[in-house]
Amino acid sequence: MKKFMKPFAYDLDLPDWKDWMKEHGEPEFRAGQVMDWLYEKRVNSFEEMSNLSKKLRDNLADAFELQPLKIITSQESQDGTIKFLFGLVDDHAIETVVMRHNYGVSVCVTTQVGCRIGCTFCASTLGGLKRNLTAGEIVAQVMTAQKALDESEERVKSVVIMGSGEPFENYEPTIQFVKIINSPKGLNIGQRHITVSTSGVVPNIYRFADEGWQVGLAISLHAPNQDLRSSLMPINRRHPLAELLDACWYYLRTTGRRLTFEYALIGGKNDQLEHAHELGKLLQGMNCLVNLIPVNYVPERDFTRTSRNQIFEFKKVLDSYKINTTIRREQGHDIDAACGQLRAKHNKLV
Ligand code: SF4
Repeated sequence: MKKFMKPFAYDLDLPDWKDWMKEHGEPEFRAGQVMDWLYEKRVNSFEEMSNLSKKLRDNLADAFELQPLKIITSQESQDGTIKFLFGLVDDHAIETVVMRHNYGVSVCVTTQVGCRIGCTFCASTLGGLKRNLTAGEIVAQVMTAQKALDESEERVKSVVIMGSGEPFENYEPTIQFVKIINSPKGLNIGQRHITVSTSGVVPNIYRFADEGWQVGLAISLHAPNQDLRSSLMPINRRHPLAELLDACWYYLRTTGRRLTFEYALIGGKNDQLEHAHELGKLLQGMNCLVNLIPVNYVPERDFTRTSRNQIFEFKKVLDSYKINTTIRREQGHDIDAACGQLRAKHNKLV
């Protein structure tokens, strides 16, 4: 399998660049210059870094890869959502979604090629996990999206780590990615404008809480009890709901931040009012937001969609438990915007 022979230039944050310059006998300020070229001027080659010496540019080109991700397809929805299918150096394909909101542009990134978690409502897991992405491959998704947005003078304001894959099973690269996009020399995206979502890898929820960051955390919950959650999300057998909730309380105590719970409503499975009451009791008293998501249609899964009326009734029950609840606005409904759908089609998995 063809893989990167060299690290990707986007794999490094400022301290890494400083170390590299030191090791190569260059002054430290060159680190900041390289990052300016990468993230502010957004060049695609070291050759364009005209304030660096020819020798340094050649050394950098010998040491690092710096090519944009290959755009296999991009679909633009009527609401402005863009879904990219990017090709990696080893010919795997990954998805990245650009969403235009009234508060700015947000990018949803992928952290793994495929996924091994096996959630029953998700197309990303069909075909299993192929490999983890490097930090640089995650950064490159935002950069390639930003370069496309440069044409319309739009700027990526926020990033959600909610695309294909389980970020907490690819923990270090995900953390390095956050450092790079948050860095003033990187994309300078504020921590409060970054959210990472996990299906419930409990040990890394504790680890993430201890990072001491203001980065948001979302938990894919999708069921209010152990049995139902295990039937929808096999990870719930490895990390049971009660342990997940303990980790959530730890996160709340440690960070003082609000937690988001994602709840995909799946017709007839988890969308009944009894489920809403159970959920209300489970989360009562927590500083949290429940995000209700009408489930996306995955052709071979045969799930039905919950009616609008039922969604509002579900929300009313949660309101009665004083739980902040939103209903996710659907974007990109006229394109293959559900997580994993475009890649699955490309790989002929559906
Ligand atoms: S929902 Fe997320 S964690 Fe679950 S299978 Fe899909 S990509 Fe993996």
